Amino acid sequence: MSSIQIRTEIPGPRSRALMARREAAVPRGLFHATPVFVARAEGALLEDVDGNRFIDFAGGLGCLNIGHRAPRVVSAVREQLDRFLHVCFSVTPYESYVAVAEKLNALAPGNFAKKTILLNSGAEAVENSIKIARAYTKRTGVICFEDAFHGRTLLAMSLTSKTHPYKAGFEPFASDIYRIPFAYAYRNPSGTSAASFASHLEDAFKRVVAPESVAAVIAEPILGEGGFVIPPRGYLFLLQEICRKHGILFIADEVQSGFGRTGRWFASEHFGIEPDLITTAKSLGGGMPIAAVTGRAEIMDAPDVGALGGTFSGHPAACVAALAAIEAIEKEGLLARSAAIGKCFEERARKWQKKWALVGDVRNLGAMCAIELVRSAETLEPADAETEEVARYCYEHGLITVTAGTYDNIIRILAPLAISDEQFDEGLDVIEAALASVIEQRHTAMSRV
Ligand code: PMP
Repeated sequence: MSSIQIRTEIPGPRSRALMARREAAVPRGLFHATPVFVARAEGALLEDVDGNRFIDFAGGLGCLNIGHRAPRVVSAVREQLDRFLHVCFSVTPYESYVAVAEKLNALAPGNFAKKTILLNSGAEAVENSIKIARAYTKRTGVICFEDAFHGRTLLAMSLTSKTHPYKAGFEPFASDIYRIPFAYAYRNPSGTSAASFASHLEDAFKRVVAPESVAAVIAEPILGEGGFVIPPRGYLFLLQEICRKHGILFIADEVQSGFGRTGRWFASEHFGIEPDLITTAKSLGGGMPIAAVTGRAEIMDAPDVGALGGTFSGHPAACVAALAAIEAIEKEGLLARSAAIGKCFEERARKWQKKWALVGDVRNLGAMCAIELVRSAETLEPADAETEEVARYCYEHGLITVTAGTYDNIIRILAPLAISDEQFDEGLDVIEAALASVIEQRHTAMSRV
C-alpha cells in the first residue's frame, strides 16, 4: 500500500488560505521548503491540512532521526507535563538536566572526563563553545571553513560561510574569525588528499593569523547546509593533530551530523577524532528544542560561575525528551538502521549517476545522504534551477525533501531512521521520477531553441 496519498492539488485550498494569513502576519525572510501546512505527523509520514499524505525526507531539518512523535518521547513529555514545566536550571535545578549531561559525557568520543552544558538551539551551542574556548585558552582567534553553516546569531552567522541569504546585509560580523577551504574533493579535483587539504590550516598560520592567537578551529565533520560534503579519511585527524601542536582547541559542530545520522552517535567517531568540544542540537531532543556543548571537563570549567546559562536552556520537557530519544536510538537499533538506509540510497543513486550526467556526485555516510546536481561533468556548473524543480516535483508528488549547498544544487536526505524499507524506496522512486521529469523537460526546452 502506498504511504503517499495526494487528495488535492499541492498546495490545497486550506494550505493556500493559511499561506495568505502567513504572508500578512510573518516576515518574508522566513523560507519554506514546501507550501503546505501540516496537520499531523507520525514516524516518517506527515499529513497536511488538506488531507494530503507525504513521506518526510526532511525530518524537520534533521531533528527527527527517531521519527515524528516517537512513542517514548511523547510519553516522557506527557509525564513531565504533570510534574513541572519551566523552573529554570539556574533557579532550582532538576535531575533530568544532569542525566542528559551524564549521557552525553558518556556517549561523546574520548576516554577523558567530560562535562556538558544544555542550551536551546544549535546557534546558541556554537556561541557557547567559542566562549568556553576563549575563556580556557585566553586567546581570541577562531578558524572556520568555507561552505560551513553554524547558525544565524551574530557569532554563529559570522562563522557561517554562505553570503546570500545568510549574511548579506547583516554586517558587521564578529571579529577575529578566519576562514580556510574545507576538504570538498568534488569541487577541488586538483589535490584531494587529506594532507593537501589539511595544509590550508598550517598555511593560514603563516599568511593569516599566528597560531598562538587562535583559540579554536571549528568544523562540521561532514558539512550540513554546505551539502553533505564528506572529507577524505585522515583529514579531520590531521586538523586535530595540528591544533594540538599549537594548543588550539578543536570544536566539532555535530548539530546536523550527530545523533545517529551517520550510523554512529557522532560523525567524529568515523574519523577517529576526539574533539575538545562538541556541539549537538537538532535530533538530540527527538522533536523538542534542546542543544548542548560537551567537552573536556577542565575546558568546560574555564568560565566562572554565572558566566554561562540561559533562562530556558535545558527545559525540563526537552530534557526528558532527549533522554527518551537516546533510549530509542539505543533500544531500537537505529545506528544499524542508519547504515542500512545509507546502503539502500547508495545503490539507487549510483544508478542515477550512471544514467544521468545531471547527477554529478553521490555522497553518503550512513543515512546522511545527498546528490549534487550539475549541468556539465567538465565545468561542474551547479544545476540550481534544476535542483529547485526536483524539490518541487517531489513535494507535488508526496515527498518532502530539502536542498543544500553554497550553490543551491544539492538534494539532501534526512529521513527519520525509523522509516520502513517500503517508505524509503517509495521516496527514492519519487526522486528518480523527479530527476527523469526535469531532464526530459530541459531536453524539450533545448530542442525548441
Ligand atoms: N550548526 C550546524 C552544523 C547546523 O546544521 C545548524 C542548523 N542547520 C546550526 C549549527 C544552527 O542550529 P539552530 O538552527 O538550531 O540554531
